[in-house]
Amino acid sequence: MRALRLNQLVISRRFNQFTSRAGVRSLSDHVSSRPVPPSAPETAGDHLIYTQEHFALKESLRKIIDQEINPHVDQWEAEGTFPAHKIFKILGSAGFLGVNKPVEYGGLGLDFSYSVAVSEELGNIRCGGIPMAIGVQTDMATPALARFGSAELKEEFLLPSILGDKVACLGVSEVGAGSDVSSILTKAVRKGDEYVINGGKMWTTNGTQADWICLLANTSDAAPHRNKSLICLPMTLPGVHIARKIDKLGMWSSDTAEVFFDDVRVPCKNIIGQEGMGFTYQMLQFQEERLWAVANIVTMMDNIIQETIQYTRQRKIFKQPVLYHQSVNFRLAELQTEVELLRSLLYRATALYIKGNDVTKLASMAKLKGGRLAREVGDSCLQYWGGMGFTSDVLVSRFYRDSRLLSIGGGADEVMLGIICKYMDTLPKK
Ligand SMILES: Cc1cc2nc3c(=O)[nH]c(=O)nc-3n(C[C@H](O)[C@H](O)[C@H](O)COP(=O)(O)OP(=O)(O)OC[C@H]3O[C@@H](n4cnc5c(N)ncnc54)[C@H](O)[C@@H]3O)c2cc1C
Repeated sequence: MRALRLNQLVISRRFNQFTSRAGVRSLSDHVSSRPVPPSAPETAGDHLIYTQEHFALKESLRKIIDQEINPHVDQWEAEGTFPAHKIFKILGSAGFLGVNKPVEYGGLGLDFSYSVAVSEELGNIRCGGIPMAIGVQTDMATPALARFGSAELKEEFLLPSILGDKVACLGVSEVGAGSDVSSILTKAVRKGDEYVINGGKMWTTNGTQADWICLLANTSDAAPHRNKSLICLPMTLPGVHIARKIDKLGMWSSDTAEVFFDDVRVPCKNIIGQEGMGFTYQMLQFQEERLWAVANIVTMMDNIIQETIQYTRQRKIFKQPVLYHQSVNFRLAELQTEVELLRSLLYRATALYIKGNDVTKLASMAKLKGGRLAREVGDSCLQYWGGMGFTSDVLVSRFYRDSRLLSIGGGADEVMLGIICKYMDTLPKK
């Protein structure tokens, strides 16, 4: 099995093309934008779920990050957007937008642990917005399409998304429905062989740049969990309006849109899988989204802790480095311990997931802990940078703003707690 995977990586024309292209420039060109390496074991022999192929994939992705992304992050953060088509094309050409997607649609055909590895590596991008935008493309807007979509639909939407020719977005949340997905109001009414769609979506990541949206809409008057469908909808169709780009506390380089649908006509064949199964598909899609988000934040927390150690080691107060004050080094030790615990949970959930188990409970626990721990890491580390931590010049302040989203987006902490309670059977009976 492992040999097969390695073979897939090695024979992948795009992967090879990329590794030779990316090797041209020296990594030391970007030393200043390169975070300190994480403290986790980095060899395949030591690792719980990663093989040499995972590490090869991560190393290649790191070169793209260092050469094509990190040098521009400050500018894109200031501009409030980034060139998604350009960056996705670079990532897609190298195979990184579909590591666990079917080979016949341009993917590498690997299991979800490779997606986790990619997400971990994307955590080395020096902001949260761009990894999130990439994650929406790979692990939020496309898993259901890859799993349940028709061949025709996959040809039209999945293939170009994996190759980086199309940008995708996910339309679940609405102005009046975020945590309670079942209460969305966007409607798709069947007329002949078309759906006519009316409604609106809120908080749509990639929304101003996307070519298509994976849209959750009500397609019948059945009960809320059985009346929804996921539909692939081109954003260029008449009646699709980008109402505004939302100004946000963090994740500045990621564009977030409010979108309206006004009598948008889309062929019925654009439905993913079965009509009425959209809620279920979306809940399945959420599992990958949540594990992806945890993998991403684990690397970011490693980097923030390491950069804080570096800074506090050279910054002296009361004649000794800030780091050597026990309240500081003990706290950093405690935070790193919690990051390691979270990493273990992530790998355990991933290992179970790729064997076909339902990991809803573990994924929800990991997402809950990830959001809460990121808030602690951001707050404590920023404190140790003193006034510098309050400036826009350091990564820790960006992390403090960006990572706040994790306790809200993709299911708030309280939603995670509700799911965990359901699995623990501690909720009042109806
Ligand atoms: C930057 C950003 C990007 C996003 N990208 C996307 C995207 O691409 N696609 C998409 O569909 N959505 C996206 N979202 C939406 C995101 O998933 C929602 O914001 C999230 O699900 C919460 O929904 P809400 O904002 O409507 O909050 P509400 O549902 O109004 O909830 C408000 C608060 O109520 C509390 N709460 C929730 N449930 C319970 C409970 N059971 N018990 C007690 N308290 C509770 C929580 O603290 C929650 O934060 C994005 C959001 C942001 C901010």
